Amino acid sequence: MEEGARSCLLQSRSSLEQDIRASYLMDHMISDGVLTGDEEDRIRSKPTRREQAAALLELLLRKDNQAYISFYNALIRESYGDLASLLHNSLPLVSPEAEKSFSDGGTRHVQAVLSEGGVPQRPVVFVSRPALVNRVREKLYHLQKEPGWVTVFGMAGSGKSVLAAESVRDHALITECFPGGVHWLSIGQLDRADLLVRIQSLCFRLEQQSQEKDPSSSLHRSPGSLEEAKERLRFLMLHRYPRSLLILDDIWDSSVLKAFDIQCRVLLTTRDRSLADCVSGSKSEVAVESGLEEDQALEILALYVNGKPQRLPEQARSIVRECKGSPLVVSLVGALLREFPDRWAYYLHTLQQKKFKRIRKSSSYDYDALDQAMAASIQVLSEEHRELYIDLTVLEKDVKVPAKVLSVLWDLEPEEVEDVFQDFVNKSLLFRDCHHRPYLYYLHDLQLDFLAEMNRSGLESLHTKVVRQYQQRYSQGPPTSGDEECLYWFRFLTYHMAKANLTQELYSLMFSLDWVRTKAQIMGPAHLINDYVEYGAILDKEVRGHFQEFLSLNGHQLEQRPFPDVVQLALSQPDSSEVYRQALLQAQERATRG
Ligand code: ADP
Repeated sequence: MEEGARSCLLQSRSSLEQDIRASYLMDHMISDGVLTGDEEDRIRSKPTRREQAAALLELLLRKDNQAYISFYNALIRESYGDLASLLHNSLPLVSPEAEKSFSDGGTRHVQAVLSEGGVPQRPVVFVSRPALVNRVREKLYHLQKEPGWVTVFGMAGSGKSVLAAESVRDHALITECFPGGVHWLSIGQLDRADLLVRIQSLCFRLEQQSQEKDPSSSLHRSPGSLEEAKERLRFLMLHRYPRSLLILDDIWDSSVLKAFDIQCRVLLTTRDRSLADCVSGSKSEVAVESGLEEDQALEILALYVNGKPQRLPEQARSIVRECKGSPLVVSLVGALLREFPDRWAYYLHTLQQKKFKRIRKSSSYDYDALDQAMAASIQVLSEEHRELYIDLTVLEKDVKVPAKVLSVLWDLEPEEVEDVFQDFVNKSLLFRDCHHRPYLYYLHDLQLDFLAEMNRSGLESLHTKVVRQYQQRYSQGPPTSGDEECLYWFRFLTYHMAKANLTQELYSLMFSLDWVRTKAQIMGPAHLINDYVEYGAILDKEVRGHFQEFLSLNGHQLEQRPFPDVVQLALSQPDSSEVYRQALLQAQERATRG
């Protein structure tokens, strides 16, 4: 029953108790189908008229809008017009128009079911993601006929919980698939004792609701162990709440999921895609993209500052770009801007400087600051995997790498690296580009920024480790296969050396005619020219000039296939050039070798 009607009944309770004769009213209510014969008997068994009236009202309070309307009509029919007038103003509307009248798209029935089940409301600032919501609903429809699991997975702050709550805000879905209701349970990171408490309180809530509907059912003592709690929940779901949906929000651990492996219908949100592997029954999953479309993210910012997306300052787009449209970050920044509307440039700068601790706003979200939300994902990795994950700090933004690159860094077989990556991908800590074979992997910008911030002091030694591992693996000369791994080293070895402050090694590499020849052959001369510009500040100016000149003079030749003889080309440089000197040495060597 909706809130207004219930409140009105409670306020008029004593007047009603004083005057009504329950036995007259109950006949009408039975013929309206809102009261059962058993319920009537129970009420009639009360010894006095007043007690019968009190019992009828008590029962009515636990019923729905239809029961209120039927009771109201019964009062009119039995000439209690004055009492009926007390209830008149709060008569619930049940016309289809009224059912559609909620701004969030849910009907009164949906609202009642969701609030009874503890499903969170929409955030105050909300943008819809219809394609995603429909995907989840479609999977939930598969649970209409049989129990099973729907996993909604994605990285921290991608909007999984909001999406889960949104997907059940649908009249047809609830009435057709989950007439037993929707029950929300927030899980998060917890130990066995906490889990027991959560399940105990869920059982208590379910038993209390079922007792309200059927007072003859009794409340049980709290289950004392996890096994007992699981059995209690199994019983409740099977007998009292068949065809209901359990939403388990933010699951981290498969052992938690096992406690709910009781053949019921479950929607779970998690960062770990593989969690449902450990439970039985049918399973499906929906991936939540980590970022919103630019328009949607701008809409969130605009809603926070009560403006129009078109009128936002220029920094708005940069903020969205900087966090790749992460719903969490955009909302955190939006909430901050609501309080300090002049701080667009400041928050953009904060994001660019990766000062995540400053992007903090107490909100309904579980983590106060972005850094906590990110750190939580990493903490659940095994120690060994955590260390490996931290090594990924050395990757460049927006660069996708094959497992083989990390197999050099970690001295593992590529297959072993793939296994480690699988764990990261499952936990939404890494992304996989499956359009490419072999697969390529990459980090979300926010993850990379967070890692860099976390390992600020260790960054140099991480890059040194990359260079050393590379040198060990390719002590006989650089890879020449032309595959993704080979391309990676030709593009980024210089970057790692620069970051590692290995200036001497960077010199030797970039001022080596062999390197120039192989890189030009594999990648073309443009990349090489780029390197000299990029690291210009740390390289010897004069020698750099020799190499740049050589490349700019011979660029078109180095594009040709068959690939020209670089020593021959270099010999035409002025004899004061380092390029010429190396070419001469090589030519002499060739001559002595014959
Ligand atoms: P997750 O469960 O993936 O960690 P949440 O669903 O809790 O993420 O969302 C994190 C925050 O992002 C929310 O507190 C909310 O502020 C914001 N958010 C998520 N989805 C939306 C949305 N559709 N519209 C507006 N804000 C959203």
